[in-house]
Amino acid sequence: MEKKERIFKAQSKQVTLDRENRQKLDYNIGRYDQAVERGVHFFSDLDNARSQASNIKDFAVDDLENLLVGFEKRALENGSEVFWACDKREALAILKDIVLKEKVELAVKMKSMISEELEINKLLQELQVETWETDLGEFIVQLAGEKLYHILTPAMHKSRGDIATLFHQKFGLDPESTPEQITLFVRDYLREKFTRADLGITGANFLIADTGSIALTENEGNGMMTFSWPKTLEVIAGIEKIIPKLTDLGLFWPLVAVHGTGQHVTAYNSLLSGPKQMDELDGPKRMVIILLDGGRSRMFGDPEMRKALTCIRCGACLNACPIYRNVGGYTYQTTYTGPIGSVISMYLDDSRDTGFLNFACSLCGRCSEVCPVKIPIHRLLLLNRSRINENSDKGATEKLVYRTAGEILMRRRSLDRIPAKWKNLAMKKIGHKHWGPNRKPLNFAPESFSRMWRRRKHNQS
Ligand code: SF4
Repeated sequence: MEKKERIFKAQSKQVTLDRENRQKLDYNIGRYDQAVERGVHFFSDLDNARSQASNIKDFAVDDLENLLVGFEKRALENGSEVFWACDKREALAILKDIVLKEKVELAVKMKSMISEELEINKLLQELQVETWETDLGEFIVQLAGEKLYHILTPAMHKSRGDIATLFHQKFGLDPESTPEQITLFVRDYLREKFTRADLGITGANFLIADTGSIALTENEGNGMMTFSWPKTLEVIAGIEKIIPKLTDLGLFWPLVAVHGTGQHVTAYNSLLSGPKQMDELDGPKRMVIILLDGGRSRMFGDPEMRKALTCIRCGACLNACPIYRNVGGYTYQTTYTGPIGSVISMYLDDSRDTGFLNFACSLCGRCSEVCPVKIPIHRLLLLNRSRINENSDKGATEKLVYRTAGEILMRRRSLDRIPAKWKNLAMKKIGHKHWGPNRKPLNFAPESFSRMWRRRKHNQS
């Protein structure tokens, strides 16, 4: 068993039994569920909207090459610089070059999963660049020295009390501070950083092919400060973020908002179409866009797995997943967690040893039901499982186990003849270890279901 898999198993047991953590997740996801329940009524025909979004993203991914080239052409015409990075190493080399040439001393960042994927903060730390996360949730996890817990709600695992204590320890705030007081403090604290920052770093919610623009959506206004104050802006985006037309945002923005937070539309939606022009008052003098492959071509090259590239990172499948709700975000040990994280991580750079996550699923299908772009996530998990088994000797062992189990279970009558107490004894001896110490012991009923059925039928007639 690989190291990550061992850690996953050990941590999932531990986290699942941590009542306090469960309460925090249940509370936060419960509030999310209520908000989404209200938000979906914004759509008169949600299913139709999801189908349209799914079709547009399918088309975009199928025509990826043309759309990306078109995007690059228009972005260059708008005055941006565009770089292509095959992998993490290349993307970080481009960033390093900018930091050194621009003599960057302070960088501000907007929340983006791709910057987590590339571990940008690690590089900036090595280059001695003071770096601040500007999304409140991400600022909190940065202060705590932790990673993002959830792709949309980075501090989902923290209660109000945890956060107040953290701000007391780090900044001497009253340990009883309210969320409003903490937010006001962070606003002031970061404003000073924004005004001094040399570099702003963002991801992209969408790359718009027909205008060469970057679409960004957020709730705190920190993104607008990140891309308008610093003189240099670096946008890093996965190649799958492309959509064909500006007008497609009319569908995608409300879909992301409703499925991400339950809002009809997120508070701030921005379009960045190049650096500051002569007649403009604010904006970066230099805008650099890095388009990252980072293993995405591996999914693109696989006709069935290609659908996973249409994800718009709304986070809905994480909140719906019974596994995520029990084991939490850190247990996955990957940048992208939950059902979609389990599907895509093994294709991304540096995450090759995460195939086991595809097996950490009950295949309930809830993730596929809630996905706004209709990704059949549970089917992709199954597909990955079969691919992993095809390529490993585990497949042969598993086949043998299932064949034997199948043969035993097909002989129901012989099984029924074995008294319940013998079966219980066998379970105690053989099965208990696998059944787990935290479950009630299995107790076979004295009479089998089929015998009970026959007896009742007989009594009725
Ligand atoms: S797979 Fe679907 S539900 Fe999950 S994050 Fe992506 S778009 Fe949202």
